Amino acid sequence: MQNRHQIFLQHKNDSLTFPPVNTQHIQADWLAQHNVSLDVLRLDKIHPVVSGNKWFKLKYYLQDAKEHRKTTIATFGGAWSNHIAATAFACREADLKSVGIIRGEKPQWLSATLQFAEGEGMELHFVSRTDYRNKAAIIDSFKQPDWYWVNEGGYGMFGVKGAAGILSFTDAAKYTHIIAAVGTGTMLAGLLRSSKEEQQVIGISSLKGNTALEQQVMQLVGEDALPSRCTIVHDYHFGGYGKVTKELIDFMDTVVKEHALPLDIVYTGKTFFAIKDLVQKEYFAPGSKLLMIHSGGLQGNSSVKP
Ligand SMILES: *Cc1c(COP(=O)(O)O)cnc(C)c1O
Repeated sequence: MQNRHQIFLQHKNDSLTFPPVNTQHIQADWLAQHNVSLDVLRLDKIHPVVSGNKWFKLKYYLQDAKEHRKTTIATFGGAWSNHIAATAFACREADLKSVGIIRGEKPQWLSATLQFAEGEGMELHFVSRTDYRNKAAIIDSFKQPDWYWVNEGGYGMFGVKGAAGILSFTDAAKYTHIIAAVGTGTMLAGLLRSSKEEQQVIGISSLKGNTALEQQVMQLVGEDALPSRCTIVHDYHFGGYGKVTKELIDFMDTVVKEHALPLDIVYTGKTFFAIKDLVQKEYFAPGSKLLMIHSGGLQGNSSVKP
């Protein structure tokens, strides 16, 4: 477990410099057979609870809030949201108050994620699933001038700017493909922005049939069309966002055993599965060098009942 104080100091100076991030080389027959190499950028190692990419996505929102002399960050998420956990933690580090608008009625027992968020000082407000859909009305109802609102999942331009810093943690130029899980598309847009023209950027969507995604990423990168070097794959959602199958859980267990690589059920488990499947289907030309972004999310695994 990383020392809290250590993270605190680094965050104060520059939250984009974390020492424990490393790149893990994956050795497997299914890669060797197709002459494809795979490295994993372990952003999950930044912190055991606060997951990888959310740190990056939050950084510039927090900075902007401070510049505008806001006292509080308010944002949205579900009971197992990585974004809620990360926001609560990051705000405490940055001496900001935090408010979480949580989807659904208040349960009798709080999820581990919400207990963690409360422990970090986050004020939780529960909103019915119907009301939750109308974010503008929720924001209106609070009427707090010194609150700074951040979109669900950190979606938006400051999130893209932060995510663009991810690739600086590795020698990114040597890869032909950069592959990451996709929720809102913010991280993917950041990777697109910071990668090279000749690199392919591939997103594996965790949502079922989210056809708005391409549009969302286009808006974030400010293009009329998604560049041809960017592909979003929609075939590995395993039933939809937050849904898991026994096949996926078994696969994740095997990956931990064989590669000492823990994955999360919502995003990175599906992404690693997709990579293996695509390699076996010869999606990647021989000689391809793949970099998978392990975007964290391990805290959400405790939502799975043993
Ligand atoms: C939030 C999250 C993502 C998705 O990031 P977006 O920028 O919303 O696409 C991917 N992986 C993990 C682990 C996450 O927590």
